[in-house]
Amino acid sequence: MPAPLAVVAEEAAGCTRCALAAGRTNVVFGMGDPTSDLLFVGEGPGAEEDKQGLPFVGRSGKLLDQLMWEEMGLTRERVYIANVVKCRPPNNRDPQPEEIASCRPYLETQLELIAPAVVVTLGKFAGQLLLDSKEGITRLRGRSYPFAGGVLVPTVHPAYVLRGGGEPMAQMRADLVRAKQALAAAGSPLADPSVAQP
Ligand code: SF4
Repeated sequence: MPAPLAVVAEEAAGCTRCALAAGRTNVVFGMGDPTSDLLFVGEGPGAEEDKQGLPFVGRSGKLLDQLMWEEMGLTRERVYIANVVKCRPPNNRDPQPEEIASCRPYLETQLELIAPAVVVTLGKFAGQLLLDSKEGITRLRGRSYPFAGGVLVPTVHPAYVLRGGGEPMAQMRADLVRAKQALAAAGSPLADPSVAQP
């Protein structure tokens, strides 16, 4: 992690800016390549993520890894993965607006320091926050948006795909292909299949 991002991660590790601090085991700041052209933004940590201090390490994460590999030829080491809120909401409830607002500066700093060409939002909360929209994810997804000098591709949350099966799975696959095309359009090496690693 470049020094400035490591400093922010260290600061976040002791954060008590919102009520979620009280119930967390670990702050889940993010993981992956901090110089990557591709940033995934999910909602918030679940039980396994809270325990390990890493994002998307439970069943949803395994599905994300699988689809990222199958549709983009990428492993998580080559991308960066973060969440809208860095601490686990109790009983996996939705993050509250004040919690999202309190945590937002960390995500803004990640966006600024990583400066990805493509951002893929996973689920409603990340898509709505970064696109400043109140639309549901089914309306937001299916296209890409200009975002911070790059492109943002909203898709469904992998947990929703695990629950919903066929159609959400097809939607997420199509969105990841869209993200790969955006990487190619940006001239990113992540779009080059010859450097794909298992
Ligand atoms: S969710 Fe974000 S703002 Fe709230 S305590 Fe955790 S790191 Fe701080």
